[in-house]
Amino acid sequence: MNWKGLVVASALISGSVMAESMIVRFDLTDSMKTYLKQNEFDITGVNYKTMEIEALLTEAELALIKAQKTQIKFSFPQNLAMAPDQDYKNPQEIEDFIREVHANYPDITEVKSIGKSLEGRDIWAIKISDNVRVDETEPTILVNGMHHAREVMTPEITTDMVSYLTSNYGKDAAVTKWVNETEIWVIPMFNVDGNNKMWTEDSMWRKNTRNGFGVDLNRNYPYGWNSCSGSSANTGAQDYRGTAPASEPETQAMMNLVAEIKPVFDISYHSYSEIVIYPYGCRPNKTPTEQAVEIIGAEIGKKIDYKPGTAWELLYNADGGDIDWMYTAHQVIPFVIEVNGTWDGFHPNYKKMRDKTVLRNRPGWQHLFARLEGPSLQGKVENKEFETIKIMNAGVAKVIQTYKINPDGSFYVILKAGNYDVSFEGSRSKKIENLAVTSRQIISL
Ligand SMILES: [Zn+2]
Repeated sequence: MNWKGLVVASALISGSVMAESMIVRFDLTDSMKTYLKQNEFDITGVNYKTMEIEALLTEAELALIKAQKTQIKFSFPQNLAMAPDQDYKNPQEIEDFIREVHANYPDITEVKSIGKSLEGRDIWAIKISDNVRVDETEPTILVNGMHHAREVMTPEITTDMVSYLTSNYGKDAAVTKWVNETEIWVIPMFNVDGNNKMWTEDSMWRKNTRNGFGVDLNRNYPYGWNSCSGSSANTGAQDYRGTAPASEPETQAMMNLVAEIKPVFDISYHSYSEIVIYPYGCRPNKTPTEQAVEIIGAEIGKKIDYKPGTAWELLYNADGGDIDWMYTAHQVIPFVIEVNGTWDGFHPNYKKMRDKTVLRNRPGWQHLFARLEGPSLQGKVENKEFETIKIMNAGVAKVIQTYKINPDGSFYVILKAGNYDVSFEGSRSKKIENLAVTSRQIISL
């Protein structure tokens, strides 16, 4: 038995949060979602197949629900584990994993600490690409796991992706092409302090460890911070947003990396609900229908049989989330994928669910590579005279997308298939009219 097993066992004996809180299941209706959210209950997941919603409640919170004038129907899920299976990884095991991969595949991997957590742990990232120590002009894909500490399956998805890409390089034609033509960045475990706390103190811990109460890292990003009741000012709430936008060192580390590597796509893995989420988090905001964001989200959802939508459509308002910030600040096409379902909870049985879940999710992240070869404008301008690219439907003056060219002159504008008027603008301008975009168009000016 390793040390993680010992700690969990002793926590069970001493009677921790595991004994005091319970997962309670309700019918998934708009009024139930609103009720749970307004009372700042810890909504843990939804199930759109059975139309149920679950929350982690204390006895006192459940008593409050029972005392409602209108009777609220609820049940307790059976056989749901409340503590992690010890086969899931802790921060040290993530670091060991990354170092081992790098030792085995030094030519196509590079290890980087993107910054320190509040408690001083390194937040590790691994870059996978050919010529890995060179910043080549190639599109970048970012994938991260575990903004939330108790979502233990999420580093399994990210480490599986790393293993799959490295071990199949030079053997599988598709993987070899992806690694050769893309810069792939994976942050297997983002919330390292929170995860350590999850193993050592509280198996249902979600936030980082700020002042003991913690900040929800996925409500701490600057875009729309505290804008639509999609987070809490209450330090005890599970979605406490922090005292200021990007107040947390973990948030800042992610923001610095994204600004540096300029990803075309991002997936942030969470659990649980079996859904694919795209911007925006606040009702009633949607990305423009002329853009490809929602279409790609729906494609991913179809590949892995998860339901696509915005956070406010599928769950509730969420402000200060990473994907809204990535989309608005750096033109990333970003998704949150919530893996596993209500029958698994946060702590699925490792032997039963781990392989099944990572296998099911492979076509999801693989779709990003496929989509880089789909309808898009890609290329590089060799001097600074062009700064932005404006996209219009052919013959229609309305700009449907303004793309800021990357500092190195590269651009990767992902589009729906269609005919476009494209205007490169800056100190000089150049217009390409009625361009049919049905696949990747390499533009050279
Ligand atoms: Zn989460």
